[in-house]
Amino acid sequence: MTTVFLNGAFMPMEDAKISPMDRGFLFGDGIYEVIPAYRGELVGFGPHIARMNQGLQLVGIDFKWDVVKWRAICAELIASNQGDNLAIYLHVSRGTDSKRFHAYPDNVAPTVFAYAFEIPAAPVPDKAQTKGYKVATTEDLRWQRCHIKSTALLGNVMHFQHGFAQGCNETILFNAHNQMTEGSACNAYIVKDGVVITPPLDNHILPGITRFMLLDILAKHGAIEVQERSVTMDEVCAADEVWLTSSSKEIAPVVEIDGQPVGDGEIGDVWLAAQTLYTAHKAEY
Ligand code: PMP
Repeated sequence: MTTVFLNGAFMPMEDAKISPMDRGFLFGDGIYEVIPAYRGELVGFGPHIARMNQGLQLVGIDFKWDVVKWRAICAELIASNQGDNLAIYLHVSRGTDSKRFHAYPDNVAPTVFAYAFEIPAAPVPDKAQTKGYKVATTEDLRWQRCHIKSTALLGNVMHFQHGFAQGCNETILFNAHNQMTEGSACNAYIVKDGVVITPPLDNHILPGITRFMLLDILAKHGAIEVQERSVTMDEVCAADEVWLTSSSKEIAPVVEIDGQPVGDGEIGDVWLAAQTLYTAHKAEY
């Protein structure tokens, strides 16, 4: 049985009901987070809650719980659901209105939902135990507010499906200037001559927590140089390595893009060094 949290109470998933007039359902009007917990240890908890609070503020949802309250909810979900490794999904929508009207309603309580689902064990820094990703590419046709982790994900869903339908694990997106933005559900990087290069944060990509942690870890601990600058798709095609990051993937090496091998088509040594550092230091966040 899955135990979930809805509007202040824990209950079986089957008993968790929301109104069809919830603006999350009608408009995708909400903010969410996904936080991994390996053997009960949440990874990046503080940064995830900070990003959620920032997202809620950006879309004008007047709701803020502190880390203590969220941590207690996460702890209860971890304790009451089965699985060594879980991801905690947190979702706050603007709430249930009496009518379907675009303007933000007054005096509506946000809907707060959280649940846990099982995820694979944490990625390991071992090439032999890691499967390289195969990805497709397509033009990024999402909105201009990709820095907000909105529950309105149809643009991302359609881009993910583009790759999935071709048997790919992900889809790397590029803008009208042929510059890589991110993946449909992850941030994207290239490695060239030992340097890790990733697009800078702006309204075209999500400020990934894994991206933040990885760049921070590499700056503090590694001998690996990082550049935050725009990356053309020509550079992506000529890269030695390509990586994707997200909370559940950590650092995923890409070995094939649109049917062509990345570099020599094998998982790279810079990936191994970076995932080794990430594995060693992620518990500090
Ligand atoms: N970009 C997009 C579009 C995402 O959906 C995600 C999360 N799945 C990421 C980047 C990575 O974010 P994080 O590292 O916080 O999981």
